[in-house]
Amino acid sequence: MALSDQELFSGLAALIGEKNTLTTPEDMASYCKEWRGLFPGRARAVVKPADTAEVASLLRFCHLHRIPVVPQGGNTGLVGGQTPWDKGDEIVLSLQRLNRIRDIDALSDTMVVEAGVTLQAAQEAAEKVDRLFPLSLASEGSCTIGGNLASNAGGTAVLAYGNARELTMGLEVVLADGRVMDLLGRLRKDNTGYDLKNIFIGSEGTLGIITAAVLKLYPRPRAQVTIFAGLASPAAALALLNHLKADFGAGVTTFELLPRIALEMVCNHIAGNRDPLMTRHDWYVLAEISGADENLSERVTLSFETAIENAIVANAVIASSLDQRMALWRLRETLPEAQGHEGGSIKHDIAVPLACVPQLIDDVCARVERLVPGARPVPFGHLGDGNLHFNITQPKAMDRAAFMALWDEIGDIVYDETVKRRGSISAEHGIGRLKKKLLRAVKDPVALAIMADLKRTLDPQGILNPGKVIDLDA
Ligand SMILES: Cc1cc2nc3c(=O)[nH]c(=O)nc-3n(C[C@H](O)[C@H](O)[C@H](O)COP(=O)(O)OP(=O)(O)OC[C@H]3O[C@@H](n4cnc5c(N)ncnc54)[C@H](O)[C@@H]3O)c2cc1C
Repeated sequence: MALSDQELFSGLAALIGEKNTLTTPEDMASYCKEWRGLFPGRARAVVKPADTAEVASLLRFCHLHRIPVVPQGGNTGLVGGQTPWDKGDEIVLSLQRLNRIRDIDALSDTMVVEAGVTLQAAQEAAEKVDRLFPLSLASEGSCTIGGNLASNAGGTAVLAYGNARELTMGLEVVLADGRVMDLLGRLRKDNTGYDLKNIFIGSEGTLGIITAAVLKLYPRPRAQVTIFAGLASPAAALALLNHLKADFGAGVTTFELLPRIALEMVCNHIAGNRDPLMTRHDWYVLAEISGADENLSERVTLSFETAIENAIVANAVIASSLDQRMALWRLRETLPEAQGHEGGSIKHDIAVPLACVPQLIDDVCARVERLVPGARPVPFGHLGDGNLHFNITQPKAMDRAAFMALWDEIGDIVYDETVKRRGSISAEHGIGRLKKKLLRAVKDPVALAIMADLKRTLDPQGILNPGKVIDLDA
């Protein structure tokens, strides 16, 4: 029989304490919607356990009473996975109090951190022992390691270091029935059966609750050079990437693409931004090269001189101070905010094989222009990974609501051109609730069936983040 609210609240409070069990709408409000005000919902309670044992006892209780649970870290996810539906029957399980660095071992290049540690705190802990934890996202001050792993976050250093999955050596997971699975091995080699941790990484809270992880650390680069280059086209940007990889190999840590319109938006709307080049270009690349080499800056300068001689790059500036480096990064990172000042934008997070990027951009832009004359495509992002945030901003004179009503039609164009090239409809943000229907339409049916089997096996009562990623009854 379903528990009454009173039975539920006293049951939860008995497990983790009254002050960590929030039940009033005011106390729960910030957990029930994300920062943009999207995906609002209602929860029966928000619970804030302190450690793995408390998470396990909560899950045992929820499993017994069939109470659906929505795991939440920093609440920065962009696809609505971390907030409850509006039915009001779920509890939000906030992992934020699991915020300890359990161990840091510079010799083994590993650190064991709990799920609620923010990405920034993890980076800082690594820095204190002269190591680098390379995952890097604009949301790093708020997002948590648990959320990063549950969404297999990408960001700006994937090119050199891989995404969250590749940076994880081990996991501790609380299963739906409250059992704790300890996979916190710190081994680079361990071929003892199936690699279970990878089932939970990227599962968006639908298969288990991540409570801790062993993360890989790297040497801190002794030198880092940041460049902003103007070029003629995305094809030229790919030629530059190829050129830099030939010169610096894995030292090319960041390679971000921006169209001219993006630079204009950030310079027009965000105080302190300015075009760093004296000449005007249709496309730009923000690149970063890292290494141990004292002469790195000279080598990068020479490499860019060659790229200019070979007509790959038209013009470039190299940051000569930390302030200049930050100013160049600001051009990239303030784009989402600047775009907000231009009216509505319909946003997509896609990936295609690198070589397909230029034609994809041309084809999407042409089809969007036919559908909505004057719409302003802003394809930007992690070009080094073939990952574009392919945003389409409304025509200047068009009504915002009328443009946003075209969400599905514009999405059909972007996703059609992406899938045609065997690309991904979600390169790094995940599926959540936003892309659930789309996933069903594009994913291999055998893969979908196996995903559903896994969900039934690991969560037989269907209490973990129900209705996110996949529907078992669809
Ligand atoms: C400004 C900005 C920039 C961003 N840039 C990037 C980027 O470059 N690359 C990128 O990949 N993402 C980016 N994101 C998206 C987001 O920050 C990431 O997805 C991040 O990894 C989410 O972490 P979080 O702690 O906020 O998770 P939440 O938003 O709280 O949760 C995300 C998902 O993980 C689940 N979850 C959370 N914690 C756990 C846990 N411990 N166990 C199981 N499931 C859990 C939730 O249920 C939800 O499905 C950006 C977001 C913003 C706002």
